[in-house]
Amino acid sequence: MAKCDYCGTTILFGGVRADRYRFCNQTCQRKGYSLAAIDQIPEDYLREQVRALHQGACPRCQGSGPVDVHTSHRIWSALVLTTWSSRPHICCRRCGRLEQVKDGLLALSLGWWGFPWGLLVTPIQIVRNLVGLCGGPSDAKPSDELYRLVQINIGARLLQSRQ
Ligand SMILES: [Zn+2]
Ligand SMILES: [Zn+2]
Repeated sequence: MAKCDYCGTTILFGGVRADRYRFCNQTCQRKGYSLAAIDQIPEDYLREQVRALHQGACPRCQGSGPVDVHTSHRIWSALVLTTWSSRPHICCRRCGRLEQVKDGLLALSLGWWGFPWGLLVTPIQIVRNLVGLCGGPSDAKPSDELYRLVQINIGARLLQSRQ
């Protein structure tokens, strides 16, 4: 199944296509707009940036790393309207778990109240948070998701500097 090129989440329903990329929705598409520039990032530079980030202090709590991508999955509903998204966080494991617990509780309390998507997607988002809480990226080396998000950030800076 296709994965979102921004947040790395498996796309279950719908999704947006843009050039050769796929995204969960327009939010992920907007955040991943700089993917078009990533071919121009030198491989060595990217590797060094990722390594430094992975081994550095957590950007949120300033605690010790390793720092990697921890994705939390939220959903809320109001009658016929249901909105869900997956949000990658670049932080340490403790900060990542906090986000997964928060989004899990949000799903548990506000996810269900929409038909049909609330009922269908809420259990998926809850399970995804649980999977993230129990597993998550390995401490030993930076994940592919971290590479991709660093690429996206550097790509965004490249595009900005050209304007
Ligand atoms: Zn996505
Ligand atoms: Zn942290």
